[in-house]
Amino acid sequence: MSNTDYALAVEDLTVSFDGFKAIDNLTLYVDKNELRVIIGPNGAGKTTLLDLICGRTRASAGSIKFRNEEMTKLPEYTRVRRGIGRKFQTPSIYENLSVFQNLEVSFPKGRSVFGALAFRCTDDVVSRVKLVAEDIGLLDKLDTEAGLLSHGQKQWLEIGMLLMQEPELLMLDEPIAGMSARERELTAELLQRICKNRSVIVIEHDMDFVKQIAHKVTVMHQGKILAEGTMDKVQNDPKVIDVYLGH
Ligand code: ADP
Repeated sequence: MSNTDYALAVEDLTVSFDGFKAIDNLTLYVDKNELRVIIGPNGAGKTTLLDLICGRTRASAGSIKFRNEEMTKLPEYTRVRRGIGRKFQTPSIYENLSVFQNLEVSFPKGRSVFGALAFRCTDDVVSRVKLVAEDIGLLDKLDTEAGLLSHGQKQWLEIGMLLMQEPELLMLDEPIAGMSARERELTAELLQRICKNRSVIVIEHDMDFVKQIAHKVTVMHQGKILAEGTMDKVQNDPKVIDVYLGH
């Protein structure tokens, strides 16, 4: 496979904070429609890597190509427009608005055929809201105030708000933190559904969940990739057991 066929190609990426290399000459390729999970001990550089990909942090060296387009120097908002979505652990939803309104305001204004001022409540927005609400399992909660949703439902709503922008790459930081067993199951199903139309990168610590969802696992340690492959492969790797899974 040529490097240009990947959805995301991160090559020789380095970032230093006061001389400390949080990401150290790292190369990572993610396929289209792949669900990649990144694991590794605290401080390994997992969050910093996602920060670099979405443009929150600028690389000191190396390159990030997304759908074969150079992203390395582009600002975060431009990368969002190019299709890179990022969800953090704490949901940033509008608690006083309904589920419908939360999704509606997330519709990308520039893409409406009616232009920025008249984008709301057109048929295309409403049908997109319904499609996304169905995807995230909240179709029967469209009129519910977001603040009244359960913790898991709030997390799904935020995923839905990102899906409204039709990202080609969605990155999620510990998506099941604080969720009930049932919510975890539903989140696994949701992630499996949404990677059918895009690539997904997840940082996760819960190994049962990782086994359930990952197409491929990347194990990070000290800003580098320690191991990569199927969960079966990496969990039997002595290096991975030594620095992470054996603890
Ligand atoms: P992980 O997500 O794997 O726990 P992080 O990416 O948060 O790891 O951090 C990797 C390393 O980089 C840590 O040692 C952390 O202290 C350091 N680091 C991350 N961001 C900064 C920053 N903005 N300034 C200085 N050091 C940072």
